[in-house]
Amino acid sequence: MKNSFHPLRPEHLDRLNEIVGASFTHTDSQNLSIYGRDETEDLHFQPEVVVKPADEKEISQIMRFASKERIPVTPRAGGTGLSGGALPVMGGILLSLERLNRILEIDPVNAMAVVEPGVITQVFHEEVEKLGLFYPPDPASRGSCHLGGNLAESAGGPRAVKYGVTKDYVCGLRAVLPSGEIIHHGGKLHKDATGYNLTQLLIGSEGTLAIITELTVKLLPFPRYRLTLLAPFDQLEKAVKAVNQIFLAKMTPSALEFMEQDAIQASENHLGKPYPHSDAAVHLLLEIDGQNKETVERETHQLGKILMDTGAHDVLMADSGEKQETLWSLRRAIGEAIRNISIYKEEDTVVPRNQLAPLIKGVKEICQKHQIRSICYGHAGDGNLHINILKEDMADEKWQAIQKTAIREIFELTVSLGGTISGEHGIGLSQKPFLPIAYNEAEISLMRAIKKAFDPQGILNPGKIF
Ligand SMILES: Cc1cc2nc3c(=O)[nH]c(=O)nc-3n(C[C@H](O)[C@H](O)[C@H](O)COP(=O)(O)OP(=O)(O)OC[C@H]3O[C@@H](n4cnc5c(N)ncnc54)[C@H](O)[C@@H]3O)c2cc1C
Repeated sequence: MKNSFHPLRPEHLDRLNEIVGASFTHTDSQNLSIYGRDETEDLHFQPEVVVKPADEKEISQIMRFASKERIPVTPRAGGTGLSGGALPVMGGILLSLERLNRILEIDPVNAMAVVEPGVITQVFHEEVEKLGLFYPPDPASRGSCHLGGNLAESAGGPRAVKYGVTKDYVCGLRAVLPSGEIIHHGGKLHKDATGYNLTQLLIGSEGTLAIITELTVKLLPFPRYRLTLLAPFDQLEKAVKAVNQIFLAKMTPSALEFMEQDAIQASENHLGKPYPHSDAAVHLLLEIDGQNKETVERETHQLGKILMDTGAHDVLMADSGEKQETLWSLRRAIGEAIRNISIYKEEDTVVPRNQLAPLIKGVKEICQKHQIRSICYGHAGDGNLHINILKEDMADEKWQAIQKTAIREIFELTVSLGGTISGEHGIGLSQKPFLPIAYNEAEISLMRAIKKAFDPQGILNPGKIF
């Protein structure tokens, strides 16, 4: 990747100090190293300076200055991204949004909240829940990712199968353009047909079009009852049949997760906690929620019957918060557990859910052909499969060559099944070479034209998506 930007000069740092204050401008090696990584594989790109503005006004001043001096700027939220979106690949300014971390308003009458982008997702969940309200998007990283990062990736999570993803909840935003100008769109509105929908355009734009400084999000009543089921299967085909039967029965669980044996065992080893039936080939983890106890119980019973009829060995029910948390903690730890095994690459494929079985079967064939170990898990109810391929003791050169071929084959298979190459992690840096598998030249040109309209100098998060 060619870097066409010049290194920062001392007077640039002086100006940044003036805008945000010396205590929020960092050039020491420890900070540059920490902010040079996210959670994407083993990638590391050092910024030249880390800047932590306090508010939208300071961000606007920074962008005006960066635009005048043509300095690259990479926005960063919680740094949990899995496609390298927050990596400052061209150096320059790493703009951390962590100080914009206030919940500005929770408005129960309109069922909306106004928040800054640096609010940690789990903190927001807990605050709205105190008022009997519910913000469904729940990435497994919710303890450390931020609402701004969720917006920039249109993050999903286990509840997406019933409740949708971040794009379904953001009704308005404020943002700073690369030029430093401030824009707003939408608000506490359930409808808005006024011109192009800039809110939806910025959702999932991976920090390449504008810097989000405020979000208005929709809230729902908190579901008062929730039951969790765990169903082990001895064959993938039976588990996938169960998924299809659940939807044919017109049921919509609030979570329907898939984990193969290696994923469960990695998580067990990582947390040192046993998982029931961890020798089963596949587990489905399901949740039913609602406002009425009898309805939730009836639907859970119905789900249990479908799972047994389609070949589950057993159906375990967690009816207390503590038991539910035990099951979910093992599910949430899978990503981190895999990272501890080996250098890896994670793909975030998504297909129509009835194509999940051919996708998994095809992935296993591709990996067997290239003699690479894969560990799969994900959101079966959404057809969203996380495929991790592991380097283990493979020589570096062989790994570089094989992973590119294998990933290309996996993505081509995904697209041939009616799917696409990212369901919720974004394209960022790591999936960039594969974008032409998903889109043709006309489609990519249109996206490039949108980027140019927002950022004619290409200073905002350069080196991403295209
Ligand atoms: C263990 C683990 C589990 C995960 N589980 C899930 C999951 O279940 N579902 C899911 O969807 N993802 C998941 N992820 C991926 C990741 O957590 C999400 O993509 C999350 O939305 C990233 O948020 P962040 O705050 O960490 O953003 P960062 O990684 O800091 O940034 C992500 C992108 O957003 C841009 N950005 C950040 N802030 C702004 C802003 N204010 N304005 C404009 N652009 C901005 C950055 O430039 C970057 O391109 C998981 C990650 C890990 C490590």
